[in-house]
Amino acid sequence: MSEVILEAKNITRSYFEGRIRTDVLKGVNLAIRQDELTAIIGKSGSGKSTLLHILGTLDTPTSGEILFKGDDLCRLSGNKKAQFRNQNLGFVYQFHHLLGDFTALENVMMPLLIGNMDIKKAKATACEYLEKVGLSHRIDYRPSEMSGGERQRVAIARALAGHPDIVLADEPTGNLDAKNAQAVFSLFTELAKNEHLAVVMVTHDNSLAKMCDKIYTMKDGVIDEN
Ligand code: ADP
Ligand code: MG
Repeated sequence: MSEVILEAKNITRSYFEGRIRTDVLKGVNLAIRQDELTAIIGKSGSGKSTLLHILGTLDTPTSGEILFKGDDLCRLSGNKKAQFRNQNLGFVYQFHHLLGDFTALENVMMPLLIGNMDIKKAKATACEYLEKVGLSHRIDYRPSEMSGGERQRVAIARALAGHPDIVLADEPTGNLDAKNAQAVFSLFTELAKNEHLAVVMVTHDNSLAKMCDKIYTMKDGVIDEN
């Protein structure tokens, strides 16, 4: 079996509003392996996005640990977390979050430039990944000039171009019709396998979840493997 790359240990997350406390995560344990596609399903409001944000160091658990190759990410400073995200993680969201004023090429280049890659190499890498997602003919298009499926493919190219170890995807096909959802999912999973990534994908589409290596269900603040 492949190596565990990311591990959640007894994660809790409570929100406090005045004196009212809501316990969203009540002790979540999860092991993410390289070369595996992990699906997280569960009802709306069950805490899937909260968990994904915590796994991606965008949110801090109330208690528990997130281990990346054995090191607790929660102990890193804000700067180190940002550096960790830039170097090791790729994110894909339901709404593509591309920058509207920039072309597909510039959007994919952006995180590479932030990671200090030189501009020529960033451009070549971005072109390579746009080609992998079948968008060589769209590199100079802005998000508003592309279809929903194309925008999501740009978002996937952007998430993968930095050679992350892990990709965290929150309902990446949630905004697409069934045909485009299937196409984007297939492309995404094929690329992930080729690049030996660990993928964690939140989805409410059970037919897509079934194509993953593992399915976890969030319910009542805990997670169970199906
Ligand atoms: P899912 O992604 O499964 O739909 P979320 O993780 O977005 O669920 O939300 C889980 C629960 O946490 C919901 O009840 C939501 O209202 C609550 N929640 C999420 N973010 C916040 C926040 N910033 N402040 C207070 N409650 C929140
Ligand atoms: Mg959500």
